[in-house]
Amino acid sequence: MKNHSKFDFQTKCVHSGIDEYEYGAVVPPIYQTSTFKFKNVKHGASLFAGEEKGYIYTRMLNPTVEAMENAIAALEGGHKALGCSSGMAAISTIFITLLQSGDHVVCSSAVYGPTTTVLNTVMKKYGIETTFVDSSDSENVRKAIQPNTKVVYIETPGNPTLCISDIEEISKIAHEHKATVVVDNTFMSPALQNPLLLGADIVMHSLTKFLNGHADVVGGVIVVKDEETYQQFRKTLNQLGGVIDPFNAFLVHRGLKTLAIRMEKHCQNAQKIAEWLEKHPLVKSIRYPGLKSHPHYKTGLKQHKGPGGMISIELAGGMEAGKIMMDSVRLFQLAVSLGGVESLIQHPASMTHFSMGKEAREAAGITDGLVRISIGIENVEDLIADLEQALNKVKENIPKEFELHV
Ligand SMILES: *Cc1c(COP(=O)(O)O)cnc(C)c1O
Repeated sequence: MKNHSKFDFQTKCVHSGIDEYEYGAVVPPIYQTSTFKFKNVKHGASLFAGEEKGYIYTRMLNPTVEAMENAIAALEGGHKALGCSSGMAAISTIFITLLQSGDHVVCSSAVYGPTTTVLNTVMKKYGIETTFVDSSDSENVRKAIQPNTKVVYIETPGNPTLCISDIEEISKIAHEHKATVVVDNTFMSPALQNPLLLGADIVMHSLTKFLNGHADVVGGVIVVKDEETYQQFRKTLNQLGGVIDPFNAFLVHRGLKTLAIRMEKHCQNAQKIAEWLEKHPLVKSIRYPGLKSHPHYKTGLKQHKGPGGMISIELAGGMEAGKIMMDSVRLFQLAVSLGGVESLIQHPASMTHFSMGKEAREAAGITDGLVRISIGIENVEDLIADLEQALNKVKENIPKEFELHV
């Protein structure tokens, strides 16, 4: 593979993972094949023995998938990457590989809902305990570490409260105790944040979100720093089978080419919209990493290159107001997921974070009135006009018992 390490991130987005192909193809062909023919018995045996590099079977490795993996490894500043069938497949592959019965995990309390659920159900069933902490204060992580803590798992900004955890500080604390630091970097993408360069050991992404960016793929990826870890994860993925397929890998690789410019636009739009929302009389509170009012604004500046495309708000009038707003938007679409070119709006307590239960939600600061918005790359004035008309509907239609106090 060509070495693009000397180039700027924007250039890397376009060229990383791209090799020389048959017929001079400029983009990686989709090797839509489950298996690969051996030249003869000797060749097959040497591939299986690992004496020669080549492809055997798509669950084990596929050239289209490998091209996408190489691109993401380059963008994150990692050694290699592993494509998974979803973000959750990446997360479960990480836990299954690194943990065994009797081990302990320290995890941010504000993480993707199903991550909490997997730790509290599947992992617990296999004898792995988790302590959830507000990791925006690194000291909480230090206090939660036990002699059997093997993994410190953080998501920053966290979902959906957008709490920011200090990756560098937490990595230092975890490493004093020989724990592995895993960062879910989905909300930032490598365009805005590179956890491996800040001291983390492993990065994962839901490719479904910003990396693919077009709301037409479900996928995940794990990025590692060394060959030994790569081989461990490759073994788990090969045995349990949660790999991405060639066509989805091709689409993700295509999406990556515009990652730098998409993230720039997501940030610009979200910053303008957050500033507009912050001044709106119906918005009781707002969380956006680009606002000085964000409680971890300074930690953010230390570790990310931009505040991203995600905003969380709480309306005066609480849940009832939020419902009217979500039912009144026209351009924004009421849907879970995030990070696509189109703007989406959703309600974590009844949707993405329903599975974690009310008690865990409250501990993580996910109130019933919280509304999460994913800002797309549409024209910002069009987006603001849509939010404005929806908030006007809230004012007109809110039942009297839900005082707006404005
Ligand atoms: C969506 C998401 C996941 C899970 O990814 P899937 O591709 O839906 O399995 C994990 N973490 C974060 C932060 C997410 O937004």
